[in-house]
Amino acid sequence: MTAKKPKVTLIGEILARQGVDFVYEGPSSACENCKVRKVCHNLQPGRRYRIVAVRPNTRQDCPVHAGSVCAVEVEEAPIVTLIQADMAIVNSKIGYEFSCPKTHCRSYDLCRPEGIVEGEKYIVGEVLGNAPDVCERGRSLKLVELRPA
Ligand SMILES: [Zn+2]
Repeated sequence: MTAKKPKVTLIGEILARQGVDFVYEGPSSACENCKVRKVCHNLQPGRRYRIVAVRPNTRQDCPVHAGSVCAVEVEEAPIVTLIQADMAIVNSKIGYEFSCPKTHCRSYDLCRPEGIVEGEKYIVGEVLGNAPDVCERGRSLKLVELRPA
C-alpha cells in the first residue's frame, strides 16, 4: 500500500485538532461568495477524513463555521464496519455494498457507517473481531477496519 500525500483543507477551528475524524458534507449556500471556498471544498462529499496535522497561524474568517476556520492536513480515515466473514481477509480489496438496509438493525451504525461510499473499493486493513451485536444479516459477520483503496 502506498502512503497518500495528505491534503490541505480548511475546517472550523473547534474541530481542528490532530486525530479528529470528520465526514465532509459539501459546500453550503453561504460558501458561494467566500474567497477561500476552493480550499475548503477540495474534499469528496460523504467521505471520512482524519486530521493528521494542524497548520499554525492559518485562521480565516468563515460564514459557516462559528467564528473562523484554519488549515489542516487530512487523509482519508479508516472506517470501522461489519462485513461478511468470508470477505474479511487482511489486505484484500473489496467493493463495499450496503447489504444491511434495515434501519432497525441493532448494528446499524456499524452496518452502514457514516463516511463510507457505496460501490467504492476498500482494502481490509485490520480484522477487529466478531460482530459486537446482532445484525439482521445473520451471525457470520466480522468487524473490520476498511481503508480507501
Ligand atoms: Zn445490520
